[in-house]
Amino acid sequence: MPAKIISGKDVSASVKARIKTEAEVFTAKTGIAPGLAVIIVGEDPASQIYVRNKHKACKDMGFASFEHTLPESTTEAELLSLIAKLNSDDSVHGILVQMPLPKHINENAVINAINPDKDVDAFHPENVGHIMIGDYKFLPGTPAGVMELLASENIDITGKNCVVIGRSNIVGKPMSMLLLHKHGTVTICHSRTKNLPEITRGADILVAAIGKLGFVTADMVKEGAIVIDVGINRTAEGKVRGDVDFDSVSEKASYITPVPGGVGPMTIAMLMLNTLTAAKIFAKTI
Ligand code: NAD
Repeated sequence: MPAKIISGKDVSASVKARIKTEAEVFTAKTGIAPGLAVIIVGEDPASQIYVRNKHKACKDMGFASFEHTLPESTTEAELLSLIAKLNSDDSVHGILVQMPLPKHINENAVINAINPDKDVDAFHPENVGHIMIGDYKFLPGTPAGVMELLASENIDITGKNCVVIGRSNIVGKPMSMLLLHKHGTVTICHSRTKNLPEITRGADILVAAIGKLGFVTADMVKEGAIVIDVGINRTAEGKVRGDVDFDSVSEKASYITPVPGGVGPMTIAMLMLNTLTAAKIFAKTI
């Protein structure tokens, strides 16, 4: 039987509706509209699309949105000075710097400069530490979005074999930690993993966050597995597709997320949730 498709479009719409209602109550009580500042340096076309989508989501939520588009030639010192300004701006509750940054700017220096209470991407080491411990205010959008997708189908993670392919700081590592917090038995795979198909075939829940078009094929997936595709890749024809070979894997899996329309929309929804949380931290209501 073909897999049930978990629609990130639908789940993100209901998550956003929930956030919007909560934000309206917050604003009515405090007079504060949550505000998100997004900084983009350079002209990467994919980044420009992401920034536009974030701006639109803020508008839909009734949030204030501040866009800072800086030229490719911006120096690290200039960027850090803008972040310092936003850190002390009371109308800005969340700050997001769109990655990747031009090579002459040190990404870690930039991440470390953001006030952890405004770090809506949850990349600051202080927030990463909180996530490790399991006592956090912000979760990074993509892994948090995956958890929402699993929750939307009431999938119990306890005791399940969870295999995450990818160990990046923004997806693979925090993803593994969140599955572990929900009592999964987690294996993290990466480019140097040996016998990958053997490991992935043992997965009850398989999360692909690699960045390689159609990398996960049906022979790598156990019958009835839950398959979550984080990848965003372009085909030769310019279409957006994931890391999972959807057509073949969906014949074998019990649940699968599509690309587009799966994890992607969830990432933005969770960013909106983090912006509301940041505004609540500012207002000292949490
Ligand atoms: P990354 O390049 O930082 O990490 C990729 C990971 O894949 C690495 O840890 C690497 O070890 C692993 N990998 C590479 N080749 C492999 C192989 N042959 N076998 C096993 N593992 C291998 O990428 P990232 O930032 O973690 O993103 C991963 C993918 O998810 C990308 O396609 C990216 O565009 C996408 N992404 C999507 C969203 C979203 O909102 N849906 C958000 C962030 C990233």
